[in-house]
Amino acid sequence: MEKELYDKLHLLSGKGMWHTDTCNGAYPSLHLSDGPHGLRKQEESAKTNNDSYISTCYPTASCLAATWDTELVGKVADAIGKEAWNASVSVVLGPGVNIKRSPLCGRNFEYFSEDPFLAGKLGTAYINGVQQNGVGTSLKHFAANSQETRRMTSNSRVDERTLREIYLSAFEEAVKQAKPATVMASYNYLNGYKATENRHLLTEILRDDWGYEGVVVSDWGACIDLTKSVKAGMDLEMPNTSDAHQKKLKKSIEAGEISDDEIRKAVDRMEKLISDYAVEYRKSKKDKKVNAYEVALSAALAGAVLLKNEKKILPLKKGIEINVIGDLAKKVRFQGGGSSHIRTADHPDIVTELEAAGFTVHFARGYDADVFTTDEKLLSEALQLTENGLPTVFCGGLTDRAEGEGYDRKTLDLPANQIELINRLGHLGKLVFLSFGGSPFAMPFKDRFDAILHMYLGGEAVPKAAAMLLSGEVSPSGKLAETWPKELKDTPAYGNFATVSNEIFYKEGPLVGYRHYDTKDIEPEFPFGFGLSYTSFEYSDLKISKSEYSGGAAFVSFKVKNTGKCAGAEVAQLYIENPSGKIIRAKHELRGFAKVFLEPGEEQEITLSLDERAFSIYDVILKRFNMVGGEYGICVGEAVNDLKLCEKIAVQGEDYDEHPEGAAVTTFIGKNDSNLDVIKPGKYSVYNSLGELSEKSPLGRIMLKLALKIGYGMFKDKPHDDPEVLMTIEGIKDGPVDCVIMQSGGVPYFIAEAIVRQANRRDRHVKAQKKEEKEK
Ligand code: BGC
Repeated sequence: MEKELYDKLHLLSGKGMWHTDTCNGAYPSLHLSDGPHGLRKQEESAKTNNDSYISTCYPTASCLAATWDTELVGKVADAIGKEAWNASVSVVLGPGVNIKRSPLCGRNFEYFSEDPFLAGKLGTAYINGVQQNGVGTSLKHFAANSQETRRMTSNSRVDERTLREIYLSAFEEAVKQAKPATVMASYNYLNGYKATENRHLLTEILRDDWGYEGVVVSDWGACIDLTKSVKAGMDLEMPNTSDAHQKKLKKSIEAGEISDDEIRKAVDRMEKLISDYAVEYRKSKKDKKVNAYEVALSAALAGAVLLKNEKKILPLKKGIEINVIGDLAKKVRFQGGGSSHIRTADHPDIVTELEAAGFTVHFARGYDADVFTTDEKLLSEALQLTENGLPTVFCGGLTDRAEGEGYDRKTLDLPANQIELINRLGHLGKLVFLSFGGSPFAMPFKDRFDAILHMYLGGEAVPKAAAMLLSGEVSPSGKLAETWPKELKDTPAYGNFATVSNEIFYKEGPLVGYRHYDTKDIEPEFPFGFGLSYTSFEYSDLKISKSEYSGGAAFVSFKVKNTGKCAGAEVAQLYIENPSGKIIRAKHELRGFAKVFLEPGEEQEITLSLDERAFSIYDVILKRFNMVGGEYGICVGEAVNDLKLCEKIAVQGEDYDEHPEGAAVTTFIGKNDSNLDVIKPGKYSVYNSLGELSEKSPLGRIMLKLALKIGYGMFKDKPHDDPEVLMTIEGIKDGPVDCVIMQSGGVPYFIAEAIVRQANRRDRHVKAQKKEEKEK
């Protein structure tokens, strides 16, 4: 290899936790920083996950998605981009456009939606918003990273059609429309290949099909074999791996296992990233002005979803006396835990903001948000308080312990102490649920409440937003970007999500989210697209520019009128109703939306357009999207189950009832063709988790014990079920031994190899013994 190229090899491995390498001063170093709902800028010296600079916390993705407002999401991203610019950060690690396969995924709060069309549009708006500031983004986690359980060793088995239509579509839209500076290859395996080593994903799809020219970066610690990864299409491993992976790369160059050309491609892409985003190359050094809090507030307001409002109990009359109960009113939950955790300045809580809005507030904690068990004293204080008969706002929802990065939820239920309090409150009357959380939870107690206003994880401005919404200063306008199921057994991936095996079969195929409930007539608690307002809207005059469609743009126009007494915004949604046939297809699919703000009595005409993709499936034989012929419905309305107007359109296209093989969703590609073999008993490798290897290797056991001691030791003042602690501990147990050793800060790599050797020897020995016994 030419010396010039050889000298650039370190561009392919990070330096420290957050920086790219300078190759001995030949290049400036880029500072990469989480993302996605604010800036988590850390210095290399940071000891723990939450040890970062103070910055603004905006609503998390599930709340942003509930705004259904691409312009607003763009504004939030623009503010984040500006904060990143001012903090000399080159790349913000977000947005996350993974599709929510199950409400139990611990990281759902960081993802937009269960629908790829919506996630793709919002992801695009986010990337454009950040990147217009000269700061790059990282579109993550590519791909099919749908669970946190064993997130580094689980293998998502997804058939190609489902993959393209559901799990990749949002990435495709964002890559094509917004050209993110980087795409982050996820931790999991996809159809037998680690995402970082998945050539089908990183080269054939991302680069060849979609024309992506930017950098593919590994998720932190997701790259184990740099040679295989670069060959597959990855360019940068993060964080640094104490040179161990570089040494191996150099050996494989000598052995001719990777060509100069393959290396040069990755080096070129890294050079381009540096020249586009290095702080040293910025034309202007000036700070950018940003109205961070105002932007955060407008997003928190727009993302809140009014789920119930019987007898129009909301808005509350201004200036009245009320009770507020629930620990979350004071310890407001406004963001999730893990790599997206933002360290913020102090902000007033819900009680303070309600008082500032003119209410006289009586408060009782009711439960302790840091535990799941009932505190009788807190509970009876709350019950006593409510005896005064005043309207009561119960603040509850998923607490920090209940959801976070690195682990999945085990149940749809709220923490038990909250359920008990709600049950003991009984049918109180004039009871409002002000709810928080990044994901849906079961609401068997729904009838106890007259109103439910779900704030999601609304960022640091959420207390003020809650006060403004409860008092009617602003009318709620958020709509659910995900279905709220009644029970876990109703969910599409039930029985196939986070199972005990590493092999996770996506058996539900493309029927994910509302596609499942709607098509199979399963009644959810709250459907996709649903959200009430203090006003009401009327739809009329649906027109389609064509009655027959064979390609090109078709325009759908209709009118929306505010028929109520206050100003408000409506999210108008456009769905196609697929023709019935033999192949698996959802009943309805979202193909357009628009958010309009209307004064009382005001009417606006909305025009949305449809293209070929709206009527297509991914044909696994043709290897491209292909239109399906038939008579489709074009429907507009307030939610997937509340379509106000429908017209028919005849579409020319393939008859899949005659040729169903192109629409297959049952063949799991890679079944007999995978590199999962490297983590099988007897064939263990550094890809196996330390937890698994420690069951076979005494050295592994010692290392695991030591690592856990250090892990817990880092958080002496925190309980073991704290989200930051949980994420760290899960990472140690379930992380590949390669990654655990790399991040240990000094344990030599040969220890990882020795653990693997020992485990394999043990396994072969046990097998041989068993065989002998059988033969006897
Ligand atoms: C997360 C990424 C994050 C990275 C850096 C990983 O554990 O999966 O989303 O950007 O850490 O903090």
